[in-house]
Amino acid sequence: MSYRSVEKYVTSVSSNIPERALEAVRESRVLLLISRGSRRRLFVFKSRDRDYLIIPRILCTCKDYEFNVVFRRSKPACYHLIATELAIREGRVREVSVGDADFSNILYEVVYDGFSRTLRRVIAEKNSTGSSS
Ligand SMILES: [Zn+2]
Repeated sequence: MSYRSVEKYVTSVSSNIPERALEAVRESRVLLLISRGSRRRLFVFKSRDRDYLIIPRILCTCKDYEFNVVFRRSKPACYHLIATELAIREGRVREVSVGDADFSNILYEVVYDGFSRTLRRVIAEKNSTGSSS
């Protein structure tokens, strides 16, 4: 199966869903960043110490995708793409609205560093507002 059939595979996946894809959906690791000013949108998969840029059904910036999906063609998709597809279908994508500057910083940090401090700061700020006593 070539990486070009990722879309077909991901849209047809219903059984044999990797447990960690289900777990990722439960833990709301699939994020949709929306910039408040420019309305740009960006899917990011956030894990504990790595973040990945996702284009649903098309691309993930993880090593598994790069090596096993694109180069070796040994699998049709990484679990981040499967989790993203599930989250979209089930309406469980976590939307995070951010300012334009933060949006740009998150994009560059995820692409070039594979980890975004800005994203964590934004999420921490959101978690602290409204729930503080
Ligand atoms: Zn991936």
